Amino acid sequence: MNDILEQFPILQEVSEGREVIWINPDLQAAQDGLSHCGLSLADIEEADERLRRFAPLLVHCFPETEPLHGIIESPLVEIPNMKRRLLGDEMTGKLLLKQDSHLAVAGSIKARGGIYEVLKYTEDLAIQHGLLRREDSYEVLAKHKEFFGQYLIQVGSTGNLGMSIGIMSAALGYQAVVHMSADARQWKKDLLRRHGVTVVEYQSDYSEAVKQGRKLSGEDPNSYFVDDENSQNLFLGYAVAALRLKEQLRRQNAAIDREHPAFVYLPCGVGGAPGGVTFGLKQVFGDAVHCFFVEPTQAPCMLAGMVTDLHQQICVQDIGLSGITHADGLAVGRPSGFVGNSIKPVLSGEVTVCDAVLYDYLRDLMDTEGIFLEPSACAAFHGAVQFAKAPEMKSYVQRYGLRDKLDDAVHIVWATGGNLVPDDIREEYLHTRL
Ligand SMILES: *Cc1c(COP(=O)(O)O)cnc(C)c1O
Repeated sequence: MNDILEQFPILQEVSEGREVIWINPDLQAAQDGLSHCGLSLADIEEADERLRRFAPLLVHCFPETEPLHGIIESPLVEIPNMKRRLLGDEMTGKLLLKQDSHLAVAGSIKARGGIYEVLKYTEDLAIQHGLLRREDSYEVLAKHKEFFGQYLIQVGSTGNLGMSIGIMSAALGYQAVVHMSADARQWKKDLLRRHGVTVVEYQSDYSEAVKQGRKLSGEDPNSYFVDDENSQNLFLGYAVAALRLKEQLRRQNAAIDREHPAFVYLPCGVGGAPGGVTFGLKQVFGDAVHCFFVEPTQAPCMLAGMVTDLHQQICVQDIGLSGITHADGLAVGRPSGFVGNSIKPVLSGEVTVCDAVLYDYLRDLMDTEGIFLEPSACAAFHGAVQFAKAPEMKSYVQRYGLRDKLDDAVHIVWATGGNLVPDDIREEYLHTRL
């Protein structure tokens, strides 16, 4: 450990639990950086088309998706009052909130990746067994609950991925098993059990829950494991967000291009969700978009992996941190190696945030805009705040020649979850002071 801390001085601060700002020294031009991933824009477009094929089935299973015709997508709204509260006039340009917190069905960003992966598996299975042809209306699958009931879908989760996979799987008729880490909140387990999902509880952290789930699933030929640490399907499901965002901006007459840069702040756990979204954004907007991840000071696993280039070979406990955080969606000790390796060349940087501040952001947003987010999602605000205030960010702006473009910039805070949080827990969060 001492060797690592000596070699990477920023990790010394990280290991003391202090907030840090890390600018990626290895950032490449989008075109070059994206080639490391082995996936392309065409793969994202294929995922988008698959989701469109499933839209009629989603309307059937979840009537709340009817207004958007079975496409699960979230609003992008300007939050001027929150901007004034947090930043006064320290930030020019617009502050926008991407409300994945309000995605239908799962109430979090996991609705993108998790639901996509279940649907991809379902399509493969149904076609293979002659229950479906690509040209059919996929609503026919609603008749085959008994067939899907022979199959098991399993996942390891700190909570939200389990809800997305569990709710979607159960709706199609699958047996679903969610392996929940100790960080998972009780209400998430209760909600899943009400949907008929089997919840297995662990006293250990997320990495262990994933490991157990993967092992148990591997022993059963009728079981499919959604592998949050390695799944390309999850990643592509998340990446579709970028195509949708482009369309959304077009409808709002806003552009992202060289003269109108976008700065995007994404809360990060194991890396799949923010990594997939970043991959999509860089594919769609190239060098005009600048993505920053935000992690809790006690669980900055992706940061540790990126700084050292050790990726999944390092965990936060290796540098003396607990991995324990109020941001349950981000309580991950070991990052995805697949995501770290794919994304590092296109990630602008990372910031870390201490738990106490998350509740301040949570209250501020409720107070100024009347919008509720869960603590994990509030981490994204810290990216915007540090962008406006930190000297490291000023150097970034300087280095990439962005100074005269900031008046025309947009800052997108990616709100990753909150809509399913029950009222009593909302009250608890709104009154939590650390
Ligand atoms: C899962 C989650 C994240 C981070 O996603 P990862 O894929 O774990 O990096 C962020 N916010 C919330 C609310 C989440 O549930």
